[in-house]
Amino acid sequence: MAAQQKIAGVKGMNDLLPDQSGLWEWVEARVSEVFRQYGYRAIRTPILEPTALFVRGIGEVTDIVEKEMYTFTDALNGEQLTLRPENTAAVVRSVIEHNLLYDGPKRLWYVGPMFRHERPQRGRYRQFHQFGIEALGMPGPDIDGEQLVMIHRLWQSLGLDGDQAPRLELNSLGELVERQAHRKALIEHFQSHASILDADAQRRLLTNPLRILDSKNPAMQPVIQSAPLLTDFLGDASRVHLAAVVETLERRGIAYSMNPRLVRGLDYYNLTVFEWVTDRLGAQGTICGGGRYDSLIEQMGGTPAPACGFAIGVERLIALLQEVAAPALPPALDVYVVHWGEASERAAMQVAEQCRSAGLRVQMHCGEASLKSQMKKADQSGAQCAVLMGEDERTQGVVTVKPLRAEGGLIQQDRVSIADAAAVICGLLKRRENKDS
Ligand code: ATP
Ligand code: MG
Repeated sequence: MAAQQKIAGVKGMNDLLPDQSGLWEWVEARVSEVFRQYGYRAIRTPILEPTALFVRGIGEVTDIVEKEMYTFTDALNGEQLTLRPENTAAVVRSVIEHNLLYDGPKRLWYVGPMFRHERPQRGRYRQFHQFGIEALGMPGPDIDGEQLVMIHRLWQSLGLDGDQAPRLELNSLGELVERQAHRKALIEHFQSHASILDADAQRRLLTNPLRILDSKNPAMQPVIQSAPLLTDFLGDASRVHLAAVVETLERRGIAYSMNPRLVRGLDYYNLTVFEWVTDRLGAQGTICGGGRYDSLIEQMGGTPAPACGFAIGVERLIALLQEVAAPALPPALDVYVVHWGEASERAAMQVAEQCRSAGLRVQMHCGEASLKSQMKKADQSGAQCAVLMGEDERTQGVVTVKPLRAEGGLIQQDRVSIADAAAVICGLLKRRENKDS
């Protein structure tokens, strides 16, 4: 038979390989713990949703809906479906569908893959992952401020301190009437510079001129820099809301800078908007983006309720950690069990199960191999120690425990009774943990 052709994965969609997955799991554990510390509970929604959800929820004149969505017709029933490009619209759908706000506000968090058909490059993939938070039903600036404090704590819990941590940029998008007045001024401004506008900007001029401010086209930067600022159109209530968020940051000693041109890519934001940005990852430096979206729930057909949330790009966060502060991960394996002789296998398995019952991570050698080659595998496995079970050990009711890592303190290999093995190894590893700390 002719050799089969290999099939490669989809462009821009990455495999997470075992050498990397430990760091991902470590980050996921830290992030979910910080979210839980602030009273957030997890929500999981499907990765497929009706296309209409995103068109209505995100807005038709956005990069995502215009050109980034993976949309297809379900061949089995003709439904229009889209792989979720972000998760706020889906969480809001779920909250409305299950009437989750019936007994008051909710704090929700999620993690999972998102899909956008972008040009793949460092920090920009077609399948990527987000941690996200949605606080629903809370109108005041206290929750906006608390979320920023929480994100700051998150950077610290990941070991991102000082100038290693992303920096906070803040803005207010005000309320609808304020944006309308600003929009009118923006359109007039851009119309008076119509010859400088690129095709995208021309098209957005009458549909979503705010998005022109988001353009990365260098030729348009002067006309963007001179555009009227939304800040100058904010009313009293919007200013008071922003001032309260700022006051929280200052009270907690969290550095921030006001960025009056920060608009966020999606349509649904109002009042507080923010991004956490790093300079250490090149062009794709926005790690986290979010803000308030008080009209989205109503726009999606729910009983009107205010909301505030954000999303963190996991790939970019991991890239930043690898750049500045890769943590020392705990060992993935404690024990590697080596055995020889048919009857010893059963005794070895008994020891392995005892160790697992004691909470140890144990890999037992599978298959026939010489003692030498098994010891080599034990060494490569990264385990802290090997447990050896041969005929001699079995008949005497003992195992040989052999430390594999010198850095934990040099302990000689030793024979211990099968019954004591798990406890002895636990003690051995704990001594080492103490030494490390
Ligand atoms: P950008 O301006 O970089 O395109 P965005 O405004 O489209 O970002 P959001 O929709 O706010 O991004 O998503 C929140 C976060 O998710 C981003 O700050 C980023 O960290 C991450 N993210 C967005 N798109 C991608 C992608 N294609 N690949 C990897 N991470 C992404
Ligand atoms: Mg984008």
